[in-house]
Amino acid sequence: MTPPIAILGAGPSGLTLGRLLQVANIPFVIFEQDESAIAAATVATGRGGALDIHADSGQIALKEAGLLDQFKSIARYDATITVANAKGKVYLKVEHEGGDNDKPEIDRRDLRALLVNSIPANRVQWGFKVQSVQKETDGSMSIHFQDGRIESGFKLVVGADGMWSKVRSLVTSAKPQYSGIYYLTTAIQPESPFHSSVVSLAGNGLYMAIGDGKQIVILKLGDGSYYIGFGLRLPENWSSEQAALIKDSSALRQWLLSDGFADWPEAHTDVIRHSDGDFYVWPLYAMPTESLSWQTVPGVTLIGDAAHVTTPFVGEGVNCALYDSLRLAQQIIKHGLDDLHRAVSEYEASMLPRGIDLIERSTKSGELYFASDAPKGWLKTFAGIDIA
Ligand SMILES: Cc1cc2nc3c(=O)[nH]c(=O)nc-3n(C[C@H](O)[C@H](O)[C@H](O)COP(=O)(O)OP(=O)(O)OC[C@H]3O[C@@H](n4cnc5c(N)ncnc54)[C@H](O)[C@@H]3O)c2cc1C
Repeated sequence: MTPPIAILGAGPSGLTLGRLLQVANIPFVIFEQDESAIAAATVATGRGGALDIHADSGQIALKEAGLLDQFKSIARYDATITVANAKGKVYLKVEHEGGDNDKPEIDRRDLRALLVNSIPANRVQWGFKVQSVQKETDGSMSIHFQDGRIESGFKLVVGADGMWSKVRSLVTSAKPQYSGIYYLTTAIQPESPFHSSVVSLAGNGLYMAIGDGKQIVILKLGDGSYYIGFGLRLPENWSSEQAALIKDSSALRQWLLSDGFADWPEAHTDVIRHSDGDFYVWPLYAMPTESLSWQTVPGVTLIGDAAHVTTPFVGEGVNCALYDSLRLAQQIIKHGLDDLHRAVSEYEASMLPRGIDLIERSTKSGELYFASDAPKGWLKTFAGIDIA
């Protein structure tokens, strides 16, 4: 029998919503384009970074989902945060001792595994790439997949399918706008001869150098490897124009050394030189805030990045996504399957301002990260530190 609720996307938001509905005995199905749970998560240089899950948002959702203890048993509480300028001068170092960290970290792949394993296997349909969603004449929703399959008869379709959601066009014609920034991400593995040097920079956590409109991020992962990210201002079509360069990681490394970070000190350029994975490129987009104002449309809603994708400059995207899932599940439980429209409209009334707030803060933080005199403005605004 067709369940009343279809969730599109088995990312953090879709899986958390699924788990919360499962706990409440509300039938649902998740359709995900990846062929399996580990398909995307094993791309260590791409999706396989780490996320911090905040006590006042993401962790609340995990608690309601009955997964907080499991999360705590695998999360890392001792991550140090270091912020330096382009020359490597350190201005901020936050160390956590004795578990005083309310933003512990988890690898993306571990978060996905935690959530997937909490949902019966038959609730997640892998290898279903959505092409479009349509309302039928009887008011029910149908989902059309890229390979021609169609699933129909749903009361509610929840778009949890990220930045390029196939559901979004049913509620708004707005599209994510390019931020002007790309992240190029790669890795340094534990076997690398340079590994001890990144350990001395980033330790157990995050090292971030910002200045001259550029950024280098080094982030420790659970397996001892480091996720390396380079933030640069590039034209939106850079990845299509430079497709050959991106595929050739040695050439891209050389390009970063000679063009991107040529005038940065060796302590930083060595990170480029000694990185050892393929590259994954992320042009960063954000929804225009004025578009987050739609009237609830019967039969559809959005959670997470599908609703309010933004740049990752306050590190809260996933927390907001988990919190959306919690609030939507709570409204569905409260109003029941016979009044899903009311559930969705009450959920959206709180989600839309939350999404706008996140986008505004991340945009502001991004402007300060990529300012020519960074980290000055960022430290003042986000850490209360005045530097000359
Ligand atoms: C470079 C980068 C760094 C980031 N760092 C942080 C950070 O440090 N902290 C933080 O909180 N947030 C961070 N974010 C943001 C965070 O990753 C997102 O906010 C979060 O993943 C949103 O979860 P989601 O489930 O809504 O969407 P997603 O994680 O995008 O998941 C969407 C799911 O839908 C699936 N899907 C997509 N299209 C289709 C389709 N057509 N059919 C079927 N399935 C589909 C995808 O395969 C995926 O599984 C970062 C983002 C980027 C790009």
